[in-house]
Formats: sequence, C-alpha cells, structure tokens
Amino acid sequence: MSDPLPPAAALRRIAFLLERAREPTHRVSAFRTAAAVVDTLGPDELDRRIRTRTLTDLRGIGPKTGAAIAQAHAGEVPEYLARLEETYGDLLPLADDVAELRSRLRGDLHVHSDWSDGGSPIREMAEAAIGLGHDYMALTDHSPRLTVANGLSPERLERQLDVVAALNEELSPFRILTGIECDINVDGSLDQTDELLGRLDVVVASVHSDLRAESAAMTERMLAAVANPYTDVLGHCTGRLLVPREQREGRRQRPRPESTFDAEAVFSACVEHGTAVEINSRPERLDPPLRLLNLAVELGCEFAIDTDAHAPGQLDWQGNGCERAVECGVRTEHVVNSRTADELLDWTAG
Ligand SMILES: [Zn+2]
Ligand SMILES: [Zn+2]
Repeated sequence: MSDPLPPAAALRRIAFLLERAREPTHRVSAFRTAAAVVDTLGPDELDRRIRTRTLTDLRGIGPKTGAAIAQAHAGEVPEYLARLEETYGDLLPLADDVAELRSRLRGDLHVHSDWSDGGSPIREMAEAAIGLGHDYMALTDHSPRLTVANGLSPERLERQLDVVAALNEELSPFRILTGIECDINVDGSLDQTDELLGRLDVVVASVHSDLRAESAAMTERMLAAVANPYTDVLGHCTGRLLVPREQREGRRQRPRPESTFDAEAVFSACVEHGTAVEINSRPERLDPPLRLLNLAVELGCEFAIDTDAHAPGQLDWQGNGCERAVECGVRTEHVVNSRTADELLDWTAG
C-alpha cells in the first residue's frame, strides 16, 4: 500500500495499523476520531483550515493527526503512515500479481459482528473495512439454528436490518450490505424465512453440521442449497479445519478433515445457478483446498474472496485468499467482490 489516500482514509488506515500493532486503544481512537471530524468538513473548509493553520483548533484534531491530514491533503503519504506501513503493512510480502488482485477487491462478502459470534460491534467492523479502502462489506451473522454461535432469530435479524440502515446513513458512501451466513439444513433447505432471505443483499450458505455425512447425502444437501434462488455464495465448502481453534466460552475445536461430496457436481451447479464459490481466507480454513479450487476454476465458477472475519484486524486476511486464487489461475473478472457495490447487487438480485 503506497498510493496516497484521501485524508480521512489515511487516518483510518493509520488507526487500523496501530490496532494491528496492538497499540493502546486511546491512540487508535485518536485517529478514528480525527477521521470522523475530517468527514464533516467540506473540501473547501479543509483547504482553508490547512492554509490558515487552524486545523488543530478543531476538537478531536491534534498536532499529530493534523500533520497527517495536511500531508494527505497535499497528495502525499503521511510520514507517520509510511513508517507504520513499513513495519506492519505487509507482515508477509505479497507477490506482485497477488497484490494486484488484492488491490482490485472492493469489499468482503463474509463478515461477523458481536450480534452472533464475532467480537466487535458492526460499526467497528465497518470502520476497519473503510480503513482498508473497501467500498462495502456484507454483514453475514449466523442463522437461528447455530445456537453455539448465537445465531439470529428472524426478530433479531429484523432489528439488525434497522441498525444497518441507520449506520449506512452515517457511513455513506461506504455501504454495509445486509446479509446472513445461513446454515444449510440437513435436507438442503436454508435456515431462515424466505421472506427475510428475499430482503437481504447477500446470502452466504454454509454447512455447519453433520460434516461427516456420507458423500451422496452431502452432495444432495449442497446441490439443493446451491440451486436455492436466494443463495449467492457457497461458504467454506469442505468445512475443514487445519489447526485447532478456540471458540466462545473456552470451547476448543479440533482440526477436522474435509467433508466428502461430489465436487464436480456441486461446482457445476454453482456455474448453472450463478452461485459464487467462496475462497475462505481464514488461516485455519483456507477452503477450498487447492485441488478443489483448481477444479472449480476449470469448471468456470465465479468466486468471492472472503475473510469470514470475526474481529476488525481479520478483515486484512484477504491476502491469504488472493494468494491461493492467483496460484490456481482465478481471473479477476470472475471474482464477484472485485465489482462495484451496484454491479454486485445487480448480480445478487439476478
Ligand atoms: Zn461458517
Ligand atoms: Zn462465517
């Protein structure tokens, strides 16, 4: 990340990197607050304040944030941001074509908040996405049946839609797309009312139970979900876990192998029904495995490169998915979240 950002975006990027560096919360929020102040100023007012050196007269802007704003406004990368980028910007260096693909992603279609099993409020997730330069994020909390993950009943999902609408007024032009990570029931139906599924912008359908079912049953189940007109994305298709992980309330999940199913049939159905195959970037999932990702590419699938983030810092995991996408020859035009929000919504509505 070396292209200059507009002032507010530069401040949010600084906040994001400070958070990743585990700096104290008050230092992180100083930059978020300053970004919010900049958002309220028109370009002329910002210009005038910088010329007359009265930026720091504004509540919420100090010498450090003021300097960063002035440098970003002049079209430079603020010095402070450049230093942070050097230390924390790329914990792993990305090859050029991976970085290129990553820079083309405009949003994330699989994100959790503290309404289900995520750790942070919706607003913090959205602000982190803004800090990454994203235009949108689909909020996809769990569905009712997944009680261990505090899945949302129809009533709670209705309430969440109102909360998202209010946040969208505030955060515009950034857009929180309404959504769900919907359990695929054992019979292949989806775990939410059709009425609500029809109102959501993005539906990610995932298998979270009976993962060891025999191949024929699992194939039928997934085929039904992929063909469901409300389904937009097939989430972490094999369900594998590469390393153990901690869950809420101290529960510990052991690694588990892939579910078995007829991948050729399921991916072909994805092509037929316009359902994107998720490339899940969580380090313990990295799902689908490369062998299946290659197969999906060969069959002509579209993809969503998602983080499945449960915390703001995890929104930065898309590099993992991009690496695998590049390795398997996924083309950018087949990645649905490289599209603008409007193009994406045309696609999910279709
Ligand atoms: Zn899931
Ligand atoms: Zn998820």
